[in-house]
Formats: sequence, structure tokens, C-alpha cells
Amino acid sequence: MEPFVLQEADNGTGWMKLSPFMNGSAAVTAGFTTRRGGVSGEPYQGLNCGLHVDDAPEAVVENRRRLAQALGIPFEAGTYAEQVHGKEIQMVTSALRGAGIRDRDSALQAKDGFMTNEPGVYLYALFADCVPLYFYDPIRRAVGLAHAGWKGTALGIARSMVEAMSAAYGTKARDLRAAIGPSIGACCYEVDDTVVSRIDKALGTTGGAAQEEGQPPFYEAKLGGKYTLNLQAVNRQIMIKAGIMPSHIEISSLCTSCRTDLFFSHRKERGRTGRMAAWIGLRE
Ligand SMILES: [Zn+2]
Repeated sequence: MEPFVLQEADNGTGWMKLSPFMNGSAAVTAGFTTRRGGVSGEPYQGLNCGLHVDDAPEAVVENRRRLAQALGIPFEAGTYAEQVHGKEIQMVTSALRGAGIRDRDSALQAKDGFMTNEPGVYLYALFADCVPLYFYDPIRRAVGLAHAGWKGTALGIARSMVEAMSAAYGTKARDLRAAIGPSIGACCYEVDDTVVSRIDKALGTTGGAAQEEGQPPFYEAKLGGKYTLNLQAVNRQIMIKAGIMPSHIEISSLCTSCRTDLFFSHRKERGRTGRMAAWIGLRE
């Protein structure tokens, strides 16, 4: 069953609830925005959450405010980052609440992964095709969120998160609940052999075939030296190698490039588009 379930707030905000996390515990909020709702004009219509895409900043801040209102969490308690396709994980404490919510200068700098064990700290990251990775440790009560494009995926940001949460909070990989959010699917994501060789290296495999029965291939060759890449499957494999139980990993079936009625897609819309926000936090 699709783990991301569409909701519409009273203020028109269209957001997706990460239902296995939120139904499992009223203390967790986690999900993904759509492009529905919000005040941005074309080509960022309408709930663009990214300040770095040339949209009017006041529209973006208003969209983020409406999202927080829809979720019933304080706008001022969120953090946003300047993402760089790396694998660094930042620990976020209550002292950082509000970083980057209104402007880019105050954002968490050069990070793609965030974790906290403090209730009332809400982590946000921005997406338009890249893969959102969610982590929840119900035993140690800690959460993590990562941005994984092909570079971050190949660098093993999912493994970095497991290691960082383990070092900081005593998280055991077998306790972790993980989710892989809406992102560009193998149906739409074409790459060349440079990318594929980096994926091989990250997985320690060649040829792209899945090692488990019933799982989709990591990538498949097409005509013309191109490949279709399944970033979700690659991230799932990296999570499993890092010790997360397969039964604890939820995967969205939604492709951001196929569903531009719901999502912004960097590839499909040729770079001129908005950003969705993923978030996770422990409620106060
Ligand atoms: Zn697609």
C-alpha cells in the first residue's frame, strides 16, 4: 500500500502524510508536500517551498507558513538547509530552530542530512525528483531526514545517517523505521554510464540486477549507451546493507516526473519549477 497518503488542509495545502510513521505514533510528524495549494505563480504554481529557484521570496515564506499551519506545528520551529548533493549529516538542536525559514543566509549550510532527538524541532529538506529518505527510531526517540540525488545516493548518505544516529543517539539499525519518498522513478530517470559505474561501486555489484527475488533492478541498459536508474531501489539496498530490516522500509510508488499534476519535476519541467518539502519531527 502507498505509504504517502494525500491530505488537503483547510487552508488548501495539499500534503502527503507518511502514514506508517504518523499512524504508529502521535508523537511523530512526517511527510511530503505536493504542488497543490500555496500562493506562488507559474512556473512555481502553487506550493513552492524552495527559496533558491527565483520565485518571489515572500510567496515561498507564505507557502511554508501555510504548510506549518496545515500540520499544526509552529512555523518558527522548523529548519531549512542549503543542500549540496553531499553526504554530511548535521545534528539539529533547539538552538537552531528557525534556521533558513525566511532566508537562505541563515539556513543550515552545505548539508543534505539532518537528525534530531529533541521534540519541537522540525527538519525540512527540498526536492524536485531527488529522493527523500526518512528515519525514525522509536526506541531512542530520534528522527532523521536526508536528500539523496544520484550523487548523495552513490556517496551512501543513507548509511551515513544510520552511522550518525547510532553515534549521537545510540540508535540500533534494527530498530530504525525508514521510508523512501516520492521521487523520479525508473520509468523516467535516464542516466549515462558515469552514473551507473558510481552506483556499481556504491553497491559493490555490477550489471544492475537486484540480489533479492521480487525486487526491481537497480538499473537497466537501454539503447544508445543510456540506462534507466531506480534510485529508490539503490537507497533501499544501502539501507539494508547498513542494517535496517527490509520489513522496516516503506517505499512510495509515486514518480514525481510522471505526476506533474501533484509534484514539481526538475527533469520533466526542464529546470524551471518549484520544490516540494519533506519534513520530519517529534511533536512537543
Ligand atoms: Zn515516471
